[in-house]
Amino acid sequence: MGSMNRASRLFVVSMLFQVPAFAAGMQEMNPPAEPDPSRMMALVGARLIDGNGGTPIENAVVVLRGSKILAAGPRGKVAVPNSTQTVDVSGLSLLPGLIDSHFHSRNTVKTPVEFELQNGITSFRDPGHPFKYYEEVLNSELTMPRVFLCGGHLDGPPPVWPDQAELIQDAEHARRTVKAHVERGASAIKVYFRLPLEHVHATCEAATEHGVIVTAHLELVDADVAIRAGVRGIEHITSFGTALASPTEAEQFRAAVFADSNARRELRHRLWANIDLDSSPNAKSLVDTIVAQHVFVSPTLAIFEARHGERDATEVQVRGFGNMLRFVTLCHQAGARIVVGSHTSAPFAERGRAYQRELELLVEAGLTPMEAIAAGTKHNAEFFGIEERLGTIEPGKSADLILVDGDPSQNIAAMKNVKHVMLNGNWFGDSP
Ligand SMILES: [Zn+2]
Repeated sequence: MGSMNRASRLFVVSMLFQVPAFAAGMQEMNPPAEPDPSRMMALVGARLIDGNGGTPIENAVVVLRGSKILAAGPRGKVAVPNSTQTVDVSGLSLLPGLIDSHFHSRNTVKTPVEFELQNGITSFRDPGHPFKYYEEVLNSELTMPRVFLCGGHLDGPPPVWPDQAELIQDAEHARRTVKAHVERGASAIKVYFRLPLEHVHATCEAATEHGVIVTAHLELVDADVAIRAGVRGIEHITSFGTALASPTEAEQFRAAVFADSNARRELRHRLWANIDLDSSPNAKSLVDTIVAQHVFVSPTLAIFEARHGERDATEVQVRGFGNMLRFVTLCHQAGARIVVGSHTSAPFAERGRAYQRELELLVEAGLTPMEAIAAGTKHNAEFFGIEERLGTIEPGKSADLILVDGDPSQNIAAMKNVKHVMLNGNWFGDSP
């Protein structure tokens, strides 16, 4: 046979080391089924909203081969190869599958399908429920959205959710937990609000070593301090509260929540009601830090929503929520990366519609509908580390697609009208 040439040597080497298909990206726990890789399909006539935030393309063509997007663009400019199955989707808007950065499920196959996949969410991440809550989902024969997990969140004593938390004893324990979570498939690590700052540090160091990011729910550690320690995702707009409030109010809040974790529920809106974003000495430097460190902000506004005269809201709650909205506006205007997290359910959302409510609130905070859609697609894909293969409709990406009735680029409420969902090139439910 003689000596191998360079190409075949490289081939043998790559086979030996099993180079993963997405070496730089994160993997879902449950890669979806692959369609026939030679199958050709063209979706013709839709309004194309590709997830990048630019102007929609009317009367577009998207060509698929197997699970991949081959081409996308205006009709007449995209070549449709012979023997391609053509699907007329005129009158609908075609978008990337939505990505939810904050969804919780617990041993049920129902919510991931009924709340997420049916409503166009093809990927979600659970920030902090333990792996054991997903055994049923991951062993299910049913089609599920792509599931990204963090493993149980890292917390300090006494843990807020004993059944979900990894109760961290010391820095070394934090490092071991990160390693064990990543080895089990965690694609990010979640720190919870009783974890002391020194262990947040250790967690971030270990996460960097293992190639994943840390995302945080904060009440006691200030957000700017956590970001300086290496945290790159912030879950819940309320996590910024103590960094924005006056030092006295922040200290009172911390003391009350330190004494009783449950105090946060009532005190958060009060803390926010008294934040003066116009004269807060910290608002500008905090926003600058968020932008400079490329922090992903997942506001989950929908779970904090409070409105005059509705659901027994107090003046304090309404004012607090108003300031939360306004802080999202400031982050967005400064160029921060806002992403969409549903938190599964929300007071002003119908069952399974918290994600859509969050999109509406982001528009109320000043994002254009196209920016809000990008927050839920392209930017969440970046947050998950999967932007090489998901999050936009572009050649080479995987065909996670949704078809929506109406024009969400004009009216974000149209995102409630998801008619068809494609996961990895396969229709979920009805095909058009
Ligand atoms: Zn949560």
